[in-house]
Amino acid sequence: MLNEKDVLEAVRRRVEERGEAAKLGPPDAVQITWHSLLEGEVVRSIETRTEEKQLRYGHVDLSDRPEYDTLARYRVALPKDLTKTQSLTLVRRGSVTERSCDCGNGKTLCPRCQGRGDLPCEAFTTCAACRDSGSCLHCEGTGRRINQDPRDHKPGDERVTCRQCGAEDAACPTCSGQGRTTCSTCEGRGTRGCPDCDRTGTVTHERCEGTGRTVTWIEGTISRQPLIEKIKHPKAGVPYLAWEGARESGTWRRTDLTHKDTLPTDLASGFRNLVQPHLEPRKGEIARRATFRYLRLARAVVPQHPHRVYYVFPTDTSPQVFVLPSRQRTWQIGAALLGGLAMLYLLLLLLP
Ligand SMILES: [Zn+2]
Ligand SMILES: [Zn+2]
Ligand SMILES: [Zn+2]
Ligand SMILES: [Zn+2]
Ligand SMILES: [Zn+2]
Repeated sequence: MLNEKDVLEAVRRRVEERGEAAKLGPPDAVQITWHSLLEGEVVRSIETRTEEKQLRYGHVDLSDRPEYDTLARYRVALPKDLTKTQSLTLVRRGSVTERSCDCGNGKTLCPRCQGRGDLPCEAFTTCAACRDSGSCLHCEGTGRRINQDPRDHKPGDERVTCRQCGAEDAACPTCSGQGRTTCSTCEGRGTRGCPDCDRTGTVTHERCEGTGRTVTWIEGTISRQPLIEKIKHPKAGVPYLAWEGARESGTWRRTDLTHKDTLPTDLASGFRNLVQPHLEPRKGEIARRATFRYLRLARAVVPQHPHRVYYVFPTDTSPQVFVLPSRQRTWQIGAALLGGLAMLYLLLLLLP
């Protein structure tokens, strides 16, 4: 870790290297502010345990599921890789119960025929042959001679003796004057067998697959989800370039912790206070792995060079100095740039 003396020394060297000491004089008063840079990741495995009553129709093979007595006490090895999702399904010992299904025997009433085994069917259908020309020229199928002066049938319109009224050469040959024909499906009975249940009135109960059984049990689930927290501190206040410079060539101190470890004792109190809140156990946490790296970055301002800010951080050899324009300077450059652009714009407007 750097101290103030190192920072002053590094800034002075930097000023001298640039040959500015002769012009401006060596820095006499340097204002130093410290930034604690902290980066890292905390990976937690969060566990939930839930119990739920299950119901299945038919037979269920639960023999390959582990059994438990008290779900909270069931021991499962800690995950090796905390970033993986894990799920374990168990059965509470002695909770498996087989009962008969509401259907009783695996059969249920045929929904199509409502259990009767047959379906209504029209016994007779209107004769298709004489629908327009009349079933009998004398009685129209009634059996009483209602047409006293029957019209002659057209040539080619074949007629037979009417079965209803007995008139010769007057009736439709298809229905013999009755005006309707017997249904070929039910042969006039008025009902036909239900094809869905093959006349039995019952069908297989699909939910229990015809087994007539249900199985209930208490199912326990132990699931583990990763919870990953990325840490970067401070969120603001350190220029991007200074941070990147420190990330690239700075010497950071590293700390890797599992849930069993406590923070190293030699950790500076500033970092300890930053890290500690991230290590608070979360609800359901069963394991944790934390990786931190930290570095103290010095921000130095030299009164003789108000346009610059010196950022100093430790490296494996000597402290490195990163020079950035001060905020005031950045505004000036920005303003100058904008002024230039405005000028250019005016010039363009004025050009013929
Ligand atoms: Zn007739
Ligand atoms: Zn007919
Ligand atoms: Zn019929
Ligand atoms: Zn049926
Ligand atoms: Zn059933």
